[in-house]
Amino acid sequence: MKLLFERSVPGRCHDLLPACDVPVAEFDASLLRGTAPRLPEISEIDLGRHYTELAKQTHGVNDGFYPLGSCTMKYNPRVNEEMAALPGFTQIHPLQPIETVQGCLEALYTAEQLLCEITGMDGMTLQPAAGAHGEYTGLQLIRSYHLSRGDTARNKIIVPDSAHGTNPASASMVGYKVVSIPSNPEGGVDLDALRAAVGPDTAGLMLTNPNTVGLFDANILEITKIVHEAGGLCYYDGANLNAIMGHVRPGDMGFDCVHLNLHKTFSTPHGGGGPGSGPAGCKEFLKPFLPTPHVKKTEAGYELYAPEQSMGKVRSFYGNFLVILKALTYVLTLGKEGIPEASAGAVLNANYMMSKLVGSYDMACKGLCMHEFVMDLSRQAHDHGFTAMDVAKRLLDFGMHPPTMYFPLIVHEALMIEPTETESPETLDEAAEVYLQILAEGMADAEKLHNAPLNCAISRPDEVGAARNPIVRYTFE
Ligand SMILES: *Cc1c(COP(=O)(O)O)cnc(C)c1O
Repeated sequence: MKLLFERSVPGRCHDLLPACDVPVAEFDASLLRGTAPRLPEISEIDLGRHYTELAKQTHGVNDGFYPLGSCTMKYNPRVNEEMAALPGFTQIHPLQPIETVQGCLEALYTAEQLLCEITGMDGMTLQPAAGAHGEYTGLQLIRSYHLSRGDTARNKIIVPDSAHGTNPASASMVGYKVVSIPSNPEGGVDLDALRAAVGPDTAGLMLTNPNTVGLFDANILEITKIVHEAGGLCYYDGANLNAIMGHVRPGDMGFDCVHLNLHKTFSTPHGGGGPGSGPAGCKEFLKPFLPTPHVKKTEAGYELYAPEQSMGKVRSFYGNFLVILKALTYVLTLGKEGIPEASAGAVLNANYMMSKLVGSYDMACKGLCMHEFVMDLSRQAHDHGFTAMDVAKRLLDFGMHPPTMYFPLIVHEALMIEPTETESPETLDEAAEVYLQILAEGMADAEKLHNAPLNCAISRPDEVGAARNPIVRYTFE
């Protein structure tokens, strides 16, 4: 398809600006550019068509099934958008005096209270802009706590090998050494390995639960006990809260801090780079270290304050305010009954779809899963010469977004499927049929899958080239 610059015709500008009705500001000539910028000149209809064409080449949850594992691509109710678009929320400035934005502060405060209740935490910051940013903030809470006690020897974070990839990365960013411990044969944390790993240098443990193979660790209470007895703190990666919300709470399982991905569990749009929101919650004893500013409720109204031993700022202003509003709308819409129903539906849908595929596809773990399940295509790769990648590519021909591929790393030919609770049984039936059909195709003729997708605008781009040498701007000859 043509780029805007290639569609551009000199003079075919369309401008909708009214005539200037204020005095024209004079700038110092040294600040002005000598030649006009090279902008594409294009009519409104052609501009509209350009973006419509682009939109058609992508796949969103409004187009079809989108079971991208570990990403929770659920349907985002439109009412969330309507609430976040109210002028009282959008027509404000972040530097406005706080007495003029009391309603906005109340919304932030309410979101914080509700998320604390859902996670079993006592305090929460809404500032982090993504899940990994929430991890970073939570780990800074742990670090601040140890340092405030003069305990400088604790420089290691234990991360099970079934954790999300961002966990070890965030721990390194905070300056910790990462100690990886293996999974047991059931897919949970190996308790003996954990006991052997903890000690006076343990700052804490980061646990992704349910973990990346979609399992809830049955030994969770024992895990947090082992870490606490060694003087470490427990961090809960709650990005996958979609599996458990309303049923169990990290705070009741012995965790000291947690982060949430509002752009997954709490139905704010994501994909294509954001904006997201990754609030970090903590127990009472960590609250003094929370980032600044933080909202509090007083008799005179809502105020911003700096917690006594605050780690400082992790982001400008209040976090991704409109994203938080969408999540707040979602929580208030679902209410106390709806929240556990949503997670029960997510777990039911994952198990329903898995039950249709088990026996044909190998599963990474036996038994029931939580909100997602991981299939392992190693046998097909070995016996029939087609891989997880080939299956994923073929799915595109059926208008379905592929699942997450080659993740978690501990499963060799992984396809990680997270259907989410917002899909109907009919969609899941149809998707399972397609997965089975592709499997049969691969057994009959692996070559066909190697060439897939067969009906898409682009077939197999050079993925390494695109990652290593991305062309992200137009260059004129
Ligand atoms: C998505 C995810 C993250 C990272 O969240 P981002 O918003 O992408 O930074 C961390 N942990 C888990 C378990 C996740 O699924």
